[in-house]
Amino acid sequence: KKITIAIDGFSSTGKSTLAKQLAKHLGYVYVDTGAMYRAVTFFAMQNGYINADSFDKQSLINSLPFIKLQFKFNPDLGFAEMYLNDVNVETAIRTIEVSSFVSKVAEVSEVRSKLVEQQKEMGKDKGIVMDGRDIGTVVFPDAELKIFMTASATTRAQRRFDELQQKGDDVTYDAVLKNVEERDYIDTHRVDSPLVKAEDAIEIDNSYLNREEQFQIVLDLVND
Ligand code: C5P
Repeated sequence: KKITIAIDGFSSTGKSTLAKQLAKHLGYVYVDTGAMYRAVTFFAMQNGYINADSFDKQSLINSLPFIKLQFKFNPDLGFAEMYLNDVNVETAIRTIEVSSFVSKVAEVSEVRSKLVEQQKEMGKDKGIVMDGRDIGTVVFPDAELKIFMTASATTRAQRRFDELQQKGDDVTYDAVLKNVEERDYIDTHRVDSPLVKAEDAIEIDNSYLNREEQFQIVLDLVND
C-alpha cells in the first residue's frame, strides 16, 4: 500500500538526497518544495522586487497569479526539474544569491498559501515523498511517515560548501555557514508555519551518518 512520506528539517541536511533515493527505490513521486520557494525568489530577483537592500513584498504578492511553477521529469537525471513560466530554472535557483533571499520570500504568507495549495494538489494521490520545512506540520499533517532531519550547522555548511565548490561556484565556507545559520534563524522564527518538528515525526540527526545508513533507517521505517 502506497503512503505519503514527509521529510522536513534544517537547510542542507541532505533531505533532498534522501528523498530522491527513497522515491526512486519505492517508485514514488518526489517533490522538492524548496525548489518552489527558490523559483518564486528567482522570479522576484528577475523583476527587481528583491535585492540586498530592499524587498517589495506587495509587488511580489500582486504578481503571484503570473507565476507558473511546474516540475517536469527529466529521464536522463532521474528526477523532475523546476520550471518557472515554462523556463527550466533548475540550475538558476541553486545559487548562493537565491539562497540568501529565499527565506525572506518564504516568510510571506501569500506565497506560502499559494505553494501549499499546489503541494496538497500534487500529493492527492499516495506514493509521494515530499521534502521541505512544513510538510509534516502543514501540507500533509496526516502523512503516514514523517522524518525530521537535523545535523550541526558546521556539518551542514561543510557539505553545502563542498557541493557548491564541485559545481565551480566561487564561494567561501564562511559565507555558506553564515547563509545556513541565517536561514535556520528565519525559518524557525517566522510567524507563518515556522520550521518545527511535527510531534509525530521521527528525528534523524545525520551529523555522523552516511547516506547509506540514513537510507536504511528510513527504509526500515517505511517497511514497518
Ligand atoms: O530546501 P531548500 O534549502 O532548497 O529550501 C530553501 C528555503 O525555502 C528554505 O530555507 C526555506 O526558507 C524555504 N522553504 C520553506 N518551506 C518549505 C520548503 C522550503 O519555507 N516547505
